[in-house]
Amino acid sequence: MRLSNDEALFRQEIRQFFSTQIPEDIQERSAAGETREPDDIAAVQRILNEHGYAVPSWPTAWGGRDWSPVQEHVFLDEMHLAHVPEPLTFNVDMIGPVLCEFGTDEQKARFLPGTANLDIWWCQGFSEPDAGSDLASLRTSAVRDGAEFVVNGQKTWTTLAQHADWMFALVRTNPDAPKRQKGISFLLIDMRSPGITVRPITLLDGSVEVNEVFLSDVRVPVANLVGEQDHGWTYAKFLLGNERTRVARVGVSKNRLAQAKRLAGETPAGRGTLLDDPILRARIAEMENELAALEVTLFRATSGDVDQAAIASILKLRGSELQEQTTELIADIAGPTALAVDGPSDEIPRWAQRSIRSYLTQRKVGIYGGSSEVQRMIIAKTLTGR
Ligand SMILES: Cc1cc2nc3c(=O)[nH]c(=O)nc-3n(C[C@H](O)[C@H](O)[C@H](O)COP(=O)(O)OP(=O)(O)OC[C@H]3O[C@@H](n4cnc5c(N)ncnc54)[C@H](O)[C@@H]3O)c2cc1C
Repeated sequence: MRLSNDEALFRQEIRQFFSTQIPEDIQERSAAGETREPDDIAAVQRILNEHGYAVPSWPTAWGGRDWSPVQEHVFLDEMHLAHVPEPLTFNVDMIGPVLCEFGTDEQKARFLPGTANLDIWWCQGFSEPDAGSDLASLRTSAVRDGAEFVVNGQKTWTTLAQHADWMFALVRTNPDAPKRQKGISFLLIDMRSPGITVRPITLLDGSVEVNEVFLSDVRVPVANLVGEQDHGWTYAKFLLGNERTRVARVGVSKNRLAQAKRLAGETPAGRGTLLDDPILRARIAEMENELAALEVTLFRATSGDVDQAAIASILKLRGSELQEQTTELIADIAGPTALAVDGPSDEIPRWAQRSIRSYLTQRKVGIYGGSSEVQRMIIAKTLTGR
């Protein structure tokens, strides 16, 4: 995990950038779990874009930086450590790379600059009420009618669709294909099209982050088809691989563990503080070890000499488990004060009041991007070769 001299200099440069260029109020809100969507995310993305940091992993022709995997990791780590809200993953990690790889020249010119600058807000229309883990059973249909597709169906769990200008969606174009995966296409759908209804779903922590999206006779120009008709599964697999490696979020868990230690040290217990409790100390030490192991695995993944399919699943699984465990730890440190049942209270610190919401909302990271059970299946299959 030791960085070379050049890599250490790179870390310094990035640290300097985040500490001087991102407005403090945005960092403070992010650290408090109170990022304003869409404004804070858009503001940060435009600052990144101005400095050439918006889309480092894209090809250089479209704003990429040609960084090594270690540099990409360091950049993300510093972003997390500085409490800078992450760029919109649907733009930067999902549709951008798909269009760079499989889009037409016209699609690239039309969408990539606005995607990098967040002038276009994308949402991901993959999951359906009966197609989550088993995504290939999706039923939203797209029937060709001249120069358009007519799309009918329902998507669900569509994150931040309430802000979205466009949706990239998987649709069934051939219901009679010999294999379910073969009849799926990848379409770009303008969210202002007639026939689209977005209905919010309230999450366990009370936030409205995900939505149901209903599509009724929505007309989509054939020019908005990505790649070949009926080959959308290939592009979706490419996209999902990127999603899994991003969610390890080592820096986020590092921040939370540091916060947990600080808070435990400030919370009176017995004759000292909670941090004197040997059971809590052991729990923190265990998590620190697990986090160090995850970071080593991440560095091994960047070296490229390990099975990439299995490693993406391992990073997703362990990364999301640690995100869940660290939020649970902070809620435990808050103890009964986490349950401010009568609503916001001046006597209870904000972090404690927020801790239970944070704990509840983090349950999601073990579900989206492929649930933990599904990741274990992938790891087992890769290891056993079956
Ligand atoms: C907060 C949040 C945001 C999301 N955002 C988006 C989004 O923007 N766009 C989008 O398209 N989707 C999104 N999703 C959907 C997400 O991808 C799905 O929830 C996920 O794929 C699981 O599908 P499901 O909810 O239908 O559960 P199911 O697939 O029905 O799974 C139910 C349970 O069965 C288990 N299970 C399923 N299959 C297997 C198996 N083969 N072996 C062992 N266990 C199995 C699962 O682990 C789970 O515990 C989001 C989900 C959440 C929670």
